[in-house]
Amino acid sequence: MKILVLNCGSSSLKYQLIDMLNEEVLCIGLVERIGIEGSILKQEKDGVEGKLVVEQPMKNHQDAIKLVLEGLIDATYGGVKEMSEIEAVGHRVVHGGEKFAGSVKITDEVKAALVDCIELAPLHNPANIMGIEACEEILPGVPMVGVFDTAFHQTMPKSSYLYGLPHELYTKYGVRRYGFHGTSHKYVSQRAAAMLGKDIKDLKIITCHLGNGASVAAIDGGKCVDTSMGFTPLEGLIMGTRCGDIDAAILPFLMEKEGLDAKGLSDMMNKKSGIYGMTGISSDFRDIEGAAKEGNELAQVALVAYDNRVKKYIGAYAAEMGGVDAIVFTAGVGENGIATREKILSNMEFLGVKLDKEANNVRGKERVISTEDSTVKALLIPTNEELVIARDTLALVK
Ligand code: AMP
Repeated sequence: MKILVLNCGSSSLKYQLIDMLNEEVLCIGLVERIGIEGSILKQEKDGVEGKLVVEQPMKNHQDAIKLVLEGLIDATYGGVKEMSEIEAVGHRVVHGGEKFAGSVKITDEVKAALVDCIELAPLHNPANIMGIEACEEILPGVPMVGVFDTAFHQTMPKSSYLYGLPHELYTKYGVRRYGFHGTSHKYVSQRAAAMLGKDIKDLKIITCHLGNGASVAAIDGGKCVDTSMGFTPLEGLIMGTRCGDIDAAILPFLMEKEGLDAKGLSDMMNKKSGIYGMTGISSDFRDIEGAAKEGNELAQVALVAYDNRVKKYIGAYAAEMGGVDAIVFTAGVGENGIATREKILSNMEFLGVKLDKEANNVRGKERVISTEDSTVKALLIPTNEELVIARDTLALVK
Protein backbone atom coordinates (compact mmCIF):
# COMPACT_ATOMS: atom_id res chain seq x y z
CA MET A 1 0.00 0.00 0.00
CA LYS A 2 1.27 3.49 -0.88
CA ILE A 3 0.52 6.13 1.70
CA LEU A 4 0.81 9.90 1.42
CA VAL A 5 1.89 11.56 4.66
CA LEU A 6 0.97 15.24 4.97
CA ASN A 7 2.18 17.73 7.55
CA CYS A 8 0.32 20.99 6.92
CA GLY A 9 1.49 24.21 8.53
CA SER A 10 -0.22 27.57 8.16
CA SER A 11 1.70 28.50 5.00
CA SER A 12 3.71 25.36 4.37
CA LEU A 13 3.18 21.68 3.68
CA LYS A 14 5.66 18.84 4.06
CA TYR A 15 4.93 15.52 2.42
CA GLN A 16 6.28 12.04 1.83
CA LEU A 17 4.97 9.19 -0.27
CA ILE A 18 5.82 5.89 1.42
CA ASP A 19 5.47 2.36 0.02
CA MET A 20 4.45 0.33 3.05
CA LEU A 21 5.46 -2.93 1.45
CA ASN A 22 9.05 -2.19 2.48
CA GLU A 23 8.57 1.22 4.18
CA GLU A 24 10.48 2.84 1.32
CA VAL A 25 10.18 6.62 0.87
CA LEU A 26 9.26 7.04 -2.81
CA CYS A 27 9.51 10.82 -2.82
CA ILE A 28 9.64 13.71 -0.40
CA GLY A 29 8.63 17.33 -0.80
CA LEU A 30 7.98 20.71 0.70
CA VAL A 31 5.59 23.47 -0.34
CA GLU A 32 6.24 26.92 1.05
CA ARG A 33 4.52 30.31 0.96
CA ILE A 34 1.00 28.92 0.48
CA GLY A 35 -1.42 31.86 0.26
CA ILE A 36 1.38 34.40 -0.10
CA GLU A 37 3.40 35.66 -3.03
CA GLY A 38 6.17 33.37 -4.21
CA SER A 39 4.51 29.97 -3.58
CA ILE A 40 6.96 27.18 -4.35
CA LEU A 41 6.98 23.37 -4.36
CA LYS A 42 10.18 21.35 -4.21
CA GLN A 43 10.25 17.58 -4.48
CA GLU A 44 13.05 15.04 -4.45
CA LYS A 45 13.30 11.38 -5.20
CA ASP A 46 15.97 9.17 -3.70
CA GLY A 47 18.57 8.18 -6.27
CA VAL A 48 17.51 10.83 -8.80
CA GLU A 49 19.66 13.91 -9.22
CA GLY A 50 18.13 17.36 -8.92
CA LYS A 51 14.70 18.46 -7.79
CA LEU A 52 11.25 19.07 -9.14
CA VAL A 53 10.58 22.78 -8.60
CA VAL A 54 7.16 24.28 -9.27
CA GLU A 55 6.78 28.01 -8.83
CA GLN A 56 3.21 29.14 -9.33
CA PRO A 57 0.58 30.91 -7.24
CA MET A 58 -1.13 28.69 -4.64
CA LYS A 59 -3.87 30.61 -2.94
CA ASN A 60 -4.71 27.90 -0.42
CA HIS A 61 -3.90 24.34 0.71
CA GLN A 62 -6.20 22.89 -1.92
CA ASP A 63 -4.11 24.49 -4.68
CA ALA A 64 -0.97 23.21 -2.99
CA ILE A 65 -2.24 19.64 -2.60
CA LYS A 66 -3.31 19.57 -6.28
CA LEU A 67 0.27 20.38 -7.24
CA VAL A 68 1.62 17.85 -4.75
CA LEU A 69 -0.48 15.14 -6.42
CA GLU A 70 0.80 16.20 -9.83
CA GLY A 71 4.32 15.97 -8.43
CA LEU A 72 3.68 12.47 -7.10
CA ILE A 73 2.92 11.22 -10.64
CA ASP A 74 5.80 13.15 -12.23
CA ALA A 75 7.68 10.87 -14.61
CA THR A 76 11.13 11.76 -13.17
CA TYR A 77 10.62 12.78 -9.55
CA GLY A 78 7.29 11.07 -8.76
CA GLY A 79 6.59 7.85 -6.90
CA VAL A 80 3.51 6.46 -8.66
CA LYS A 81 2.17 6.25 -12.20
CA GLU A 82 -1.44 7.11 -11.32
CA MET A 83 -3.07 8.89 -8.43
CA SER A 84 -5.31 5.88 -7.82
CA GLU A 85 -2.21 4.09 -6.48
CA ILE A 86 -2.34 6.34 -3.41
CA GLU A 87 -4.51 4.28 -1.13
CA ALA A 88 -4.52 6.33 2.05
CA VAL A 89 -3.45 9.68 3.50
CA GLY A 90 -1.99 10.16 6.98
CA HIS A 91 -2.21 13.67 8.43
CA ARG A 92 -0.09 15.04 11.22
CA VAL A 93 -2.43 16.90 13.56
CA VAL A 94 -0.88 19.01 16.29
CA HIS A 95 -3.57 19.03 18.98
CA GLY A 96 -6.01 16.27 19.80
CA GLY A 97 -6.87 17.65 23.25
CA GLU A 98 -8.11 14.95 25.64
CA LYS A 99 -10.26 13.37 22.97
CA PHE A 100 -7.55 11.43 21.18
CA ALA A 101 -5.13 9.11 22.95
CA GLY A 102 -4.20 7.45 19.67
CA SER A 103 -4.47 7.87 15.92
CA VAL A 104 -7.93 7.78 14.35
CA LYS A 105 -9.58 7.35 10.99
CA ILE A 106 -10.97 10.71 9.92
CA THR A 107 -14.77 10.89 10.02
CA ASP A 108 -17.19 13.82 10.28
CA GLU A 109 -17.21 13.40 14.07
CA VAL A 110 -13.41 13.45 14.21
CA LYS A 111 -13.36 16.61 12.10
CA ALA A 112 -15.85 18.25 14.46
CA ALA A 113 -13.62 17.29 17.40
CA LEU A 114 -10.62 18.82 15.64
CA VAL A 115 -12.54 22.05 15.21
CA ASP A 116 -13.21 21.98 18.99
CA CYS A 117 -9.43 21.73 19.54
CA ILE A 118 -8.70 24.89 17.51
CA GLU A 119 -8.99 26.91 20.70
CA LEU A 120 -6.07 24.92 22.13
CA ALA A 121 -3.84 25.21 19.03
CA PRO A 122 -4.98 28.28 17.08
CA LEU A 123 -1.82 28.41 14.98
CA HIS A 124 -1.67 24.75 13.98
CA ASN A 125 -5.01 22.93 13.96
CA PRO A 126 -6.70 25.19 11.34
CA ALA A 127 -3.93 24.32 8.85
CA ASN A 128 -4.27 20.60 9.64
CA ILE A 129 -8.03 20.81 9.06
CA MET A 130 -7.49 22.69 5.77
CA GLY A 131 -5.22 19.86 4.61
CA ILE A 132 -7.84 17.24 5.50
CA GLU A 133 -10.61 19.13 3.71
CA ALA A 134 -8.48 19.72 0.63
CA CYS A 135 -7.75 15.96 0.40
CA GLU A 136 -11.45 15.15 0.77
CA GLU A 137 -12.13 17.33 -2.27
CA ILE A 138 -9.25 16.15 -4.41
CA LEU A 139 -9.03 12.49 -3.37
CA PRO A 140 -12.67 11.59 -2.64
CA GLY A 141 -13.12 8.18 -1.07
CA VAL A 142 -9.44 7.77 -0.12
CA PRO A 143 -9.32 6.92 3.60
CA MET A 144 -7.52 9.36 5.87
CA VAL A 145 -6.02 9.05 9.33
CA GLY A 146 -5.14 11.73 11.88
CA VAL A 147 -1.99 11.24 13.98
CA PHE A 148 -1.75 13.63 16.91
CA ASP A 149 1.32 15.26 18.47
CA THR A 150 -0.44 15.14 21.82
CA ALA A 151 -1.73 11.54 21.76
CA PHE A 152 1.35 9.74 23.12
CA HIS A 153 1.30 11.96 26.21
CA GLN A 154 -2.28 11.10 27.13
CA THR A 155 -0.98 8.34 29.43
CA MET A 156 0.43 10.93 31.86
CA PRO A 157 -1.09 10.70 35.32
CA LYS A 158 -3.12 13.62 36.66
CA SER A 159 -0.26 14.46 39.02
CA SER A 160 1.88 15.24 35.93
CA TYR A 161 -0.70 17.01 33.83
CA LEU A 162 -2.52 19.20 36.35
CA TYR A 163 -0.93 22.57 37.11
CA GLY A 164 -0.80 24.19 40.52
CA LEU A 165 -3.76 26.35 39.51
CA PRO A 166 -7.41 26.47 40.63
CA HIS A 167 -8.95 23.16 39.55
CA GLU A 168 -11.89 24.84 37.84
CA LEU A 169 -9.54 26.21 35.15
CA TYR A 170 -9.01 22.60 34.09
CA THR A 171 -12.68 21.63 34.19
CA LYS A 172 -13.87 24.88 32.54
CA TYR A 173 -11.18 25.44 29.92
CA GLY A 174 -9.03 22.32 29.76
CA VAL A 175 -6.00 24.15 31.18
CA ARG A 176 -3.56 21.27 31.75
CA ARG A 177 -0.31 19.84 30.38
CA TYR A 178 -0.87 18.16 27.01
CA GLY A 179 2.68 17.76 25.71
CA PHE A 180 3.81 17.79 22.08
CA HIS A 181 6.26 15.99 19.73
CA GLY A 182 4.50 12.81 20.91
CA THR A 183 4.99 10.99 17.63
CA SER A 184 8.73 11.61 17.82
CA HIS A 185 9.04 10.63 21.51
CA LYS A 186 7.11 7.43 20.78
CA TYR A 187 9.22 6.52 17.75
CA VAL A 188 12.64 7.10 19.33
CA SER A 189 11.71 5.37 22.60
CA GLN A 190 10.59 2.29 20.68
CA ARG A 191 13.75 2.36 18.56
CA ALA A 192 15.86 2.71 21.72
CA ALA A 193 14.33 -0.46 23.16
CA ALA A 194 14.95 -2.28 19.87
CA MET A 195 18.57 -1.05 19.70
CA LEU A 196 19.20 -2.20 23.27
CA GLY A 197 17.50 -5.54 22.59
CA LYS A 198 15.13 -5.04 25.53
CA ASP A 199 11.37 -5.05 26.00
CA ILE A 200 10.25 -1.44 26.32
CA LYS A 201 8.04 -2.53 29.23
CA ASP A 202 11.23 -3.07 31.26
CA LEU A 203 12.82 0.30 30.49
CA LYS A 204 12.79 3.81 31.90
CA ILE A 205 13.70 6.14 29.04
CA ILE A 206 14.22 9.89 28.84
CA THR A 207 13.83 11.18 25.28
CA CYS A 208 15.20 14.60 24.33
CA HIS A 209 13.65 16.00 21.14
CA LEU A 210 15.93 18.98 20.56
CA GLY A 211 14.89 20.81 17.41
CA ASN A 212 13.85 24.37 16.82
CA GLY A 213 11.03 23.45 19.18
CA ALA A 214 12.30 21.17 21.93
CA SER A 215 10.87 18.89 24.61
CA VAL A 216 11.90 16.11 26.96
CA ALA A 217 9.69 13.14 27.88
CA ALA A 218 9.86 10.60 30.71
CA ILE A 219 8.75 7.20 29.39
CA ASP A 220 8.29 4.39 31.89
CA GLY A 221 7.50 0.95 30.49
CA GLY A 222 6.67 2.46 27.09
CA LYS A 223 4.20 4.97 28.50
CA CYS A 224 4.77 8.68 28.80
CA VAL A 225 4.58 9.72 32.45
CA ASP A 226 5.73 13.33 32.11
CA THR A 227 6.89 15.80 29.50
CA SER A 228 8.30 19.31 29.45
CA MET A 229 5.93 21.02 27.01
CA GLY A 230 2.63 21.92 28.55
CA PHE A 231 -0.70 23.53 27.72
CA THR A 232 1.10 24.86 24.64
CA PRO A 233 4.54 24.12 23.14
CA LEU A 234 5.97 27.11 25.04
CA GLU A 235 6.80 25.43 28.35
CA GLY A 236 9.98 23.62 29.33
CA LEU A 237 13.29 23.90 27.53
CA ILE A 238 14.88 27.05 26.13
CA MET A 239 14.21 26.75 22.38
CA GLY A 240 15.12 28.52 19.14
CA THR A 241 12.71 31.41 19.70
CA ARG A 242 10.62 30.23 22.69
CA CYS A 243 11.53 31.04 26.27
CA GLY A 244 10.48 27.77 27.93
CA ASP A 245 10.03 27.88 31.71
CA ILE A 246 9.94 31.35 33.22
CA ASP A 247 8.47 32.88 36.35
CA ALA A 248 4.84 33.56 35.35
CA ALA A 249 4.94 36.76 37.44
CA ILE A 250 7.18 38.28 34.76
CA LEU A 251 4.08 38.57 32.55
CA PRO A 252 2.00 41.02 34.61
CA PHE A 253 5.24 42.91 35.33
CA LEU A 254 5.89 43.32 31.60
CA MET A 255 2.28 44.20 30.89
CA GLU A 256 2.75 47.18 33.15
CA LYS A 257 6.30 48.13 32.23
CA GLU A 258 6.13 47.60 28.46
CA GLY A 259 2.41 48.07 27.93
CA LEU A 260 2.19 44.66 26.29
CA ASP A 261 -1.20 43.01 25.75
CA ALA A 262 -1.87 39.26 25.55
CA LYS A 263 -0.80 39.03 21.90
CA GLY A 264 2.33 41.10 22.51
CA LEU A 265 3.36 38.87 25.40
CA SER A 266 2.64 35.71 23.43
CA ASP A 267 4.70 36.98 20.47
CA MET A 268 7.55 37.97 22.76
CA MET A 269 7.68 34.55 24.45
CA ASN A 270 7.09 32.43 21.34
CA LYS A 271 8.91 34.32 18.61
CA LYS A 272 11.43 36.70 20.15
CA SER A 273 12.86 34.70 23.04
CA GLY A 274 14.89 31.49 23.36
CA ILE A 275 18.48 31.49 22.13
CA TYR A 276 17.45 34.08 19.55
CA GLY A 277 16.16 36.51 22.17
CA MET A 278 18.98 35.80 24.61
CA THR A 279 21.67 36.59 22.04
CA GLY A 280 19.98 38.82 19.46
CA ILE A 281 21.87 36.74 16.87
CA SER A 282 19.83 33.84 15.52
CA SER A 283 17.54 30.95 16.45
CA ASP A 284 19.90 28.52 14.71
CA PHE A 285 22.33 26.65 16.91
CA ARG A 286 25.06 26.71 14.31
CA ASP A 287 25.09 30.53 14.37
CA ILE A 288 25.14 30.64 18.17
CA GLU A 289 27.94 28.09 18.36
CA GLY A 290 29.91 30.13 15.81
CA ALA A 291 29.41 33.35 17.76
CA ALA A 292 30.35 31.63 21.03
CA LYS A 293 33.61 30.41 19.47
CA GLU A 294 34.38 33.96 18.41
CA GLY A 295 34.01 35.06 22.03
CA ASN A 296 30.46 36.46 22.08
CA GLU A 297 29.58 36.27 25.78
CA LEU A 298 25.80 36.23 25.35
CA ALA A 299 26.09 33.32 22.92
CA GLN A 300 28.33 31.45 25.38
CA VAL A 301 25.85 32.05 28.21
CA ALA A 302 22.86 31.05 26.07
CA LEU A 303 24.46 27.72 25.18
CA VAL A 304 25.25 26.92 28.83
CA ALA A 305 21.71 27.93 29.86
CA TYR A 306 20.28 25.72 27.11
CA ASP A 307 22.37 22.71 28.09
CA ASN A 308 21.63 23.17 31.79
CA ARG A 309 17.90 23.32 31.19
CA VAL A 310 18.04 19.96 29.39
CA LYS A 311 20.19 18.56 32.25
CA LYS A 312 17.62 19.78 34.77
CA TYR A 313 14.84 17.90 33.04
CA ILE A 314 16.94 14.75 32.73
CA GLY A 315 17.70 14.91 36.47
CA ALA A 316 14.09 15.65 37.33
CA TYR A 317 12.71 12.81 35.23
CA ALA A 318 15.27 10.30 36.51
CA ALA A 319 14.17 11.25 40.03
CA GLU A 320 10.49 11.11 39.08
CA MET A 321 10.77 7.65 37.53
CA GLY A 322 13.09 6.34 40.26
CA GLY A 323 15.89 5.77 37.77
CA VAL A 324 16.71 5.84 34.09
CA ASP A 325 18.01 3.16 31.72
CA ALA A 326 18.44 5.19 28.55
CA ILE A 327 18.70 8.81 27.44
CA VAL A 328 17.89 9.47 23.80
CA PHE A 329 18.75 12.47 21.62
CA THR A 330 16.83 13.34 18.48
CA ALA A 331 15.75 16.19 16.11
CA GLY A 332 17.94 18.90 14.53
CA VAL A 333 20.12 19.82 17.50
CA GLY A 334 19.87 16.39 19.16
CA GLU A 335 20.97 14.61 15.99
CA ASN A 336 23.64 17.08 14.82
CA GLY A 337 24.83 18.95 17.89
CA ILE A 338 27.89 16.95 18.90
CA ALA A 339 29.09 19.55 21.39
CA THR A 340 25.59 20.05 22.78
CA ARG A 341 25.16 16.32 23.50
CA GLU A 342 28.60 16.24 25.08
CA LYS A 343 27.87 19.17 27.36
CA ILE A 344 24.44 17.91 28.37
CA LEU A 345 25.86 14.52 29.35
CA SER A 346 29.01 15.87 30.99
CA ASN A 347 29.33 15.41 34.77
CA MET A 348 26.58 12.86 34.86
CA GLU A 349 28.73 9.94 36.02
CA PHE A 350 26.97 10.18 39.41
CA LEU A 351 23.79 9.10 37.58
CA GLY A 352 25.56 6.28 35.73
CA VAL A 353 26.01 8.11 32.41
CA LYS A 354 29.42 7.85 30.74
CA LEU A 355 29.66 9.39 27.29
CA ASP A 356 31.89 7.77 24.67
CA LYS A 357 33.30 10.91 23.04
CA GLU A 358 34.44 9.06 19.94
CA ALA A 359 31.07 7.38 19.40
CA ASN A 360 29.40 10.74 19.99
CA ASN A 361 31.38 12.30 17.14
CA VAL A 362 28.65 11.59 14.60
CA ARG A 363 25.65 13.31 13.05
CA GLY A 364 22.26 11.91 12.17
CA LYS A 365 22.99 8.19 12.59
CA GLU A 366 21.49 5.65 14.96
CA ARG A 367 24.17 4.91 17.49
CA VAL A 368 24.84 4.14 21.16
CA ILE A 369 27.02 7.06 22.32
CA SER A 370 27.75 5.89 25.87
CA THR A 371 30.64 3.67 26.90
CA GLU A 372 30.30 -0.11 27.34
CA ASP A 373 30.41 0.26 31.13
CA SER A 374 27.91 3.13 31.28
CA THR A 375 24.97 1.81 33.33
CA VAL A 376 22.68 4.36 31.69
CA LYS A 377 22.82 4.06 27.91
CA ALA A 378 22.91 7.24 25.81
CA LEU A 379 21.61 6.95 22.28
CA LEU A 380 21.45 9.08 19.17
CA ILE A 381 18.34 8.20 17.14
CA PRO A 382 17.19 10.26 14.14
CA THR A 383 13.45 10.78 14.47
CA ASN A 384 11.01 9.65 11.81
CA GLU A 385 7.58 11.06 12.52
CA GLU A 386 6.45 10.42 8.94
CA LEU A 387 7.06 6.70 9.27
CA VAL A 388 4.99 6.53 12.47
CA ILE A 389 2.19 8.42 10.71
CA ALA A 390 2.35 6.02 7.75
CA ARG A 391 2.40 2.95 10.03
CA ASP A 392 -0.58 4.17 12.06
CA THR A 393 -2.42 5.00 8.83
CA LEU A 394 -1.77 1.54 7.44
CA ALA A 395 -2.95 -0.11 10.67
CA LEU A 396 -6.19 1.85 10.69
CA VAL A 397 -7.18 1.59 7.04
CA LYS A 398 -6.19 -2.02 6.46
P1 AMP B 1 14.43 20.72 13.62
O1 AMP B 1 13.38 21.63 14.20
O2 AMP B 1 14.41 19.35 14.22
O3 AMP B 1 14.41 20.70 12.12
O4 AMP B 1 15.85 21.33 14.04
C1 AMP B 1 16.32 22.51 13.45
C2 AMP B 1 17.50 23.04 14.23
O5 AMP B 1 18.55 22.06 14.29
C3 AMP B 1 18.15 24.25 13.59
O6 AMP B 1 17.50 25.44 13.93
C4 AMP B 1 19.56 24.20 14.16
O7 AMP B 1 19.57 24.96 15.34
C5 AMP B 1 19.78 22.74 14.52
N1 AMP B 1 20.85 22.16 13.71
C6 AMP B 1 20.79 21.69 12.46
N2 AMP B 1 22.00 21.25 12.04
C7 AMP B 1 22.85 21.45 13.08
C8 AMP B 1 24.27 21.22 13.28
N3 AMP B 1 25.02 20.69 12.34
N4 AMP B 1 24.78 21.54 14.49
C9 AMP B 1 24.02 22.08 15.46
N5 AMP B 1 22.69 22.33 15.32
C10 AMP B 1 22.12 22.03 14.14
